[in-house]
Amino acid sequence: MFLLFLSAEIFAQGIARVSVDTLSTADKYVKIVIYDNMTWDSLTMPKPKHINSEQYDSDWVTTDHNAYRNFDIATLPDTIVLPLIEDSTDFCMPRIGFVYSKYGWRHGRAHTGSDIPLNVGDPVYSAFEGKVRYTGYCGGYGNLVVVRHANGLETYYGHLSKILVRENEPVDVGEAVGLGGSTGRSTGPHLHFETRYKGFPFDPETIVNWKDTTLRCDTLVLPRNKLNSTARYSSSSSSSSSASTVETGDGTYHIIRQGDTLSALARKYGTSVSKICSLNNNLTPNTVLQLGRKVRVR
Ligand SMILES: [Zn+2]
Repeated sequence: MFLLFLSAEIFAQGIARVSVDTLSTADKYVKIVIYDNMTWDSLTMPKPKHINSEQYDSDWVTTDHNAYRNFDIATLPDTIVLPLIEDSTDFCMPRIGFVYSKYGWRHGRAHTGSDIPLNVGDPVYSAFEGKVRYTGYCGGYGNLVVVRHANGLETYYGHLSKILVRENEPVDVGEAVGLGGSTGRSTGPHLHFETRYKGFPFDPETIVNWKDTTLRCDTLVLPRNKLNSTARYSSSSSSSSSASTVETGDGTYHIIRQGDTLSALARKYGTSVSKICSLNNNLTPNTVLQLGRKVRVR
């Protein structure tokens, strides 16, 4: 009360003051600024411009990295046109580096993104502002963050060592969504970055120029046939686990196969043995796992 009173008083007198510190509040867009004359003020930061996009209302699924599994690609126009940015500040390189493994075919299977080397712990940034649609441990992706953007585009950030955002949270362009790592099917620390539209991946280098660290275009004009229509059911990164993983409305189940252990399942699904046990009747850390048993893991 005292500070509030003082603040109002000095405002009224129009005395110049200098900010000396800022404090965070429960609302990430509101900060408290402390001034050198013992006064303070609350400051509302600008929110992402398109936070109320209707793209955040339809096919919004937080339990599956792909929200569009039943989407028919034939219903898309021959050419997809998406406005990407209004000016250059609307884009941020997710990670600066060179693409050492490109989108395309690799060892006979589709590689659905661009791989950028990094060090474990390096921040990975959201390329555009948007809203976090999925976070979690997901097969070959390891720790994965999926951000949907106001134009319907989705960007994927895989193999993270740490996830820094939550589902349904707005993210700013350039906000760190996670720390780089080598989780999932990965031979060394790198970012696996994907761009998808309606669940279908396309080459991220269509829009991102890693060499010049710029966005190639303000508006994406993409022929429909550049979307990979076969990658929506089993992405290259998760196909190794899909056979034993069953997603249902109420959770994720794993069908026990030879060699499975509860601790390995906990690692694979980013959870703990005790959490898995709490989700299943008659399951303790010492239970012998019968082959073919359906164990709820999430
Ligand atoms: Zn990759």
